[in-house]
Amino acid sequence: MESLDNLNSINDFNIAKQVIPGGVNSPVRAFKSVGGTPPFITKGNGAYITDVDNNTYIDFVQSWGPLIFGHCDKDIEKAVIESVKNGLSFGAPTLLETALAKEVISLVDGIEKIRFVSSGTEATMSAIRLARAYTNKEDIIKFEGCYHGHSDALLVSAGSGLATFGNPSSPGVPSDFTKHTLIATYNDLKSVESCIALSNSKGSGVACIILEPIAGNMGLVPSESEFLEGLRLLCDKHGILLILDEVMSGFRASLSGSQSFYKVCGDLTTFGKVIGGGMPVGAFGGRDDIMRLLSPSGAVYQAGTLSGNPVAMHAGLVALQKLRTNPTIYQHLESLALQLVKGLQEICTSFKIPLQTCVRGSMFGFFFNANPVKNFQDALKSDTKMFAAFHQGMLNAGVYFAPSQFETGFICTTMDSKLIDEVLEKAHKVLLEISTHRI
Ligand SMILES: *Cc1c(COP(=O)(O)O)cnc(C)c1O
Repeated sequence: MESLDNLNSINDFNIAKQVIPGGVNSPVRAFKSVGGTPPFITKGNGAYITDVDNNTYIDFVQSWGPLIFGHCDKDIEKAVIESVKNGLSFGAPTLLETALAKEVISLVDGIEKIRFVSSGTEATMSAIRLARAYTNKEDIIKFEGCYHGHSDALLVSAGSGLATFGNPSSPGVPSDFTKHTLIATYNDLKSVESCIALSNSKGSGVACIILEPIAGNMGLVPSESEFLEGLRLLCDKHGILLILDEVMSGFRASLSGSQSFYKVCGDLTTFGKVIGGGMPVGAFGGRDDIMRLLSPSGAVYQAGTLSGNPVAMHAGLVALQKLRTNPTIYQHLESLALQLVKGLQEICTSFKIPLQTCVRGSMFGFFFNANPVKNFQDALKSDTKMFAAFHQGMLNAGVYFAPSQFETGFICTTMDSKLIDEVLEKAHKVLLEISTHRI
């Protein structure tokens, strides 16, 4: 198999590990689940990234979603430079915040007011605080396999059996901090009903249900329509707020996120990734009667020194304006995503390698799995050794997929059909090699 000259990356990784835990500032970047060394990136250009050894890769990570226009988009670059020249940050209101707020409100149904923060983690954490204040209840329901950032109450794993209060999934999280978090099974309404019953009998009642309507953090696993519609009904019936975490799917699956796939509005919706055009931006928004409880109009405290940062707001604003004025972008991106997963499917079928695939707009996913994947437990049955071999082979051939079977891939607007064909040709070689060496 082709092999990569990555001596500089290996060296740089070793040096980084001396000063940064694990050498990275976010764990999945360390390539632990696929093995090998992460390439150290020096620059990006459109669909491509280049590393310290001068290898160039076709990039299907795109900074984990934000870069829908690819690296170094000229319009976003121009907006950022313009803003930088006016000053990096003021900690005072600017017109860019109002403009971006109006843009999001016009694109996504159910959002009447919105607040900007600097990460998806902050957005979900704050939305949950607000939901608890609004409902005057303490328990929350999240789904196994959904990721909503790294705040304490969300770092939970299911206890044994269905419908349980969560246990901390990370050392350092007191069990007191997760005792209000109930864990349900994705695409399984019965498990949600059990959680609500448990909370009503033994807990404080459920303040909110938070989910990724199109889950992208256990691989790509969309909600089934009946599931999402059922959640909406359950929430209305029990006075529970529905929080749609669209940090990944917002402006990625479609211009209105999950809303062009489902007729379901959240009471609150969270954003991140694309909303910042590549700069650190998160946001949460929703109904006015809920949002107005936020300080300073209400009593629920939430703040941020760099929230609404002008450089980041400008990048996000230009990104959303570009998307709104070129609505066919999503069809283009989706056709490329479909070309990619259909191609992979055909290759795998010819080598008798089981594969499940999925596309939602510019998001794509594939599992080396013989059965459909509807929840986290299904996803875990995937062949992660096969994924690791595929990932390594593709990386050596110059294609950068997310270094885990349980992540989503992203198409950017500078990709085209010829590029996808090129990727499929490489995938054919890699999978041929894997299948001939398989015992
Ligand atoms: C990425 C992500 C987050 C966390 O966002 P950060 O900016 O990394 O804090 C939350 N929810 C979902 C659905 C995400 O994909």
